[in-house]
Amino acid sequence: LKLGKVNLHRVLSDIVLLQKNACEGKELYLQQYFDPSIPPILGDESLLTQLFLNLIKNAMEAVGTGGVVKVTSRVLADYAMTQKGERRARMVAIDISDNGPGIPPDVLKDMFTPFFTTKSQGTGLGLAICQKIVSEHRGMIRVDSDPARGTVFTVMLPLIQ
Ligand code: ADP
Ligand code: MG
Repeated sequence: LKLGKVNLHRVLSDIVLLQKNACEGKELYLQQYFDPSIPPILGDESLLTQLFLNLIKNAMEAVGTGGVVKVTSRVLADYAMTQKGERRARMVAIDISDNGPGIPPDVLKDMFTPFFTTKSQGTGLGLAICQKIVSEHRGMIRVDSDPARGTVFTVMLPLIQ
């Protein structure tokens, strides 16, 4: 873990720009909505790039023609870090949402397991790596999926005290 000050919005907008160019031809909308008040966080820039690239690629692969992938940042004020709630820290939340088909329960259950994939060319390593990177940053990852609306992956990372 090579920690430094990381500008999350620069990391995210670099990925969005790169992926916009990469998917030329496929009709798909990649949108970003950032809270400009979010300060740099302490993290490993190359690992965080890998984390968000994996999630954004999954979202892009989940949507069909005309699909929409949104990357949003927001501050979670006073988010309780522990179950007991004794240690509290401000966190930043990054949502990667797509309007794809959602994730069925049997996939939801196993998708963080290494080598689990439903794709013919998939490695099944993306989400396992994401979970490892998030935990190395003392963060959390959650998923909210619904066949009618699509999927939202939320990554929560602590802000520097
Ligand atoms: P891979 O992308 O190589 O299949 P991942 O670990 O990145 O491996 O994802 C595991 C599985 O989780 C995928 O094969 C897919 O079934 C499911 N998945 C992940 N993200 C999404 C998403 N945004 N929408 C629907 N299914 C998803
Ligand atoms: Mg993947």
